[in-house]
Amino acid sequence: MRRRTFCKSALAAGIAATLPACSKDSTATASSTLAAVSRTGEDITIESSLVKDFAASLQGKLMQSTDGGYDSARRLWNGMFDKRPALVAQCTSEVDVMSAVNFAREQDLLLAVKCGGHSLPGKSSCNGGLMIDLAKMHSVDVDTEAMTAKAGGGALLGHIDVATHAHKLGTTTGIVSHTGAGGFTLGGGYGRTDRLTGLAVDNLVAANIVSASGEILRASEAENPDLYWAIRGGGGNFGVATEFVYKLHPFNPTIYGGNVLFALSTDFLTGYGELAAELPNEASIEPNIFSDPDGNRMVNIEVVYAGDHATGEKVMAPLLKLAKPISEQLGAMEYQTFQTGADAILGHGKQYYLKSGLVTEISAGLAEVIVDHMNRDAPVGSWFQHLGGMPASVAPDAMAYSHRNAALNLGIMIVSEDPSVMDTQIAKAREFYKDASPHIIGFYTNLNEESDQKTQGNYGDNYPRLVAAKDKYDPGNLFHLNANIKPSA
Ligand SMILES: Cc1cc2nc3c(=O)[nH]c(=O)nc-3n(C[C@H](O)[C@H](O)[C@H](O)COP(=O)(O)OP(=O)(O)OC[C@H]3O[C@@H](n4cnc5c(N)ncnc54)[C@H](O)[C@@H]3O)c2cc1C
Repeated sequence: MRRRTFCKSALAAGIAATLPACSKDSTATASSTLAAVSRTGEDITIESSLVKDFAASLQGKLMQSTDGGYDSARRLWNGMFDKRPALVAQCTSEVDVMSAVNFAREQDLLLAVKCGGHSLPGKSSCNGGLMIDLAKMHSVDVDTEAMTAKAGGGALLGHIDVATHAHKLGTTTGIVSHTGAGGFTLGGGYGRTDRLTGLAVDNLVAANIVSASGEILRASEAENPDLYWAIRGGGGNFGVATEFVYKLHPFNPTIYGGNVLFALSTDFLTGYGELAAELPNEASIEPNIFSDPDGNRMVNIEVVYAGDHATGEKVMAPLLKLAKPISEQLGAMEYQTFQTGADAILGHGKQYYLKSGLVTEISAGLAEVIVDHMNRDAPVGSWFQHLGGMPASVAPDAMAYSHRNAALNLGIMIVSEDPSVMDTQIAKAREFYKDASPHIIGFYTNLNEESDQKTQGNYGDNYPRLVAAKDKYDPGNLFHLNANIKPSA
């Protein structure tokens, strides 16, 4: 077997970086090389001396497969993906990120960018390329006078919640605290308070972006407004975000809320949809539809009222009349109880699959699809994220994120510790999604992996403007491990 052929097949199996025959030792002499994969998926080799120089240029660590810390750095949240980059640059500063982007571009190396690693389709790592790991860049600074929080590009949502709530301030973060702010913010950012305070993109005042040319660019209303427009919904297509600045809002971390459990029925779901559309912006009601150990199909509604508690109690009264609750716990509670409550059940390393579909209402037809599939397939879970409110008041072309008319986001999810069941379960989830599709107006790019064509269509009239930003900030499509916006040339 020729050496190059051997390397190629080994890389396909995702193990090239460990092969002595491909010479990857970080202490290697100038004549040795590192086997890697190019931006377009070809086998390449990189002179070890260049790798050494790159490592020396970093304040953080450059890791190969034999280095301590490599495995934890490369690991993704979704256990369905086990990718092995040739190199992991664990950056600790903006300058490190610049060096890493420059190295990837100059070596024409496949490049993945990881913040929290929660990409459902496993896009934040790669086989044989360079992974930029931002995990060490997680500081959050709160400015109580300016009412802003500055977060590093590797911050997790829990870091933001903890830092801001300490000042009785908050910004929209998602429902699991170990999710990364990077992917979350750049794709939209839904959370339990978004109806009141807007999506994460609505609160993003500014960001620092290391573009494909290795420049650090400020993206804000005043500086590079086209980039600022594009990163608010366009994902990591335009560069690496090393800093996010979020608008803060007064927030009482003790909210009125809790859980109310009902039996699943079509009438209940349509009634839920009607109520969700009428509630004030302080209120969020999010159902989780599941099968209990006895096989009964249930709906647990998570209630958050981010306002005066007595008013919250009155506002939520109609929920308790939708059907007879099986159980009800509503009252004063710490918001963090919700924000961290699913951290373990949606923990790292299990097998996950998810489809999301945005809807404007729960029609009788959609309710029937949900009840039918939930009754058929106990292991499939589904839920709704409650949208509308403040996000619906923003024009669809105000920024790249465009789905302003969505009232709810339907999620269809598989969670298992057993890889052998996934093919069967994924097929069921896809069937469920297919049957729900006539009721769906688009999808949330942060949750679905779809074809390039569907991604393009999902941005609607905003797509040409995204392509123009891509042409300007990443014409060579260096950043393509994401919901990819293709450059025009
Ligand atoms: C358990 C769980 C709970 C979730 N809850 C919510 C929720 O409540 N609301 C919601 O809106 N979404 C939610 N999501 C979806 C979430 O927004 C996406 O999975 C998001 O991509 C996660 O971001 P991350 O930084 O952890 O992901 P990563 O896997 O690190 O990155 C995802 C994508 O973003 C890119 N990226 C990440 N950081 C940067 C950066 N700093 N600069 C440039 N590109 C970057 C990556 O290259 C990759 O393409 C959830 C996902 C999971 C798994």
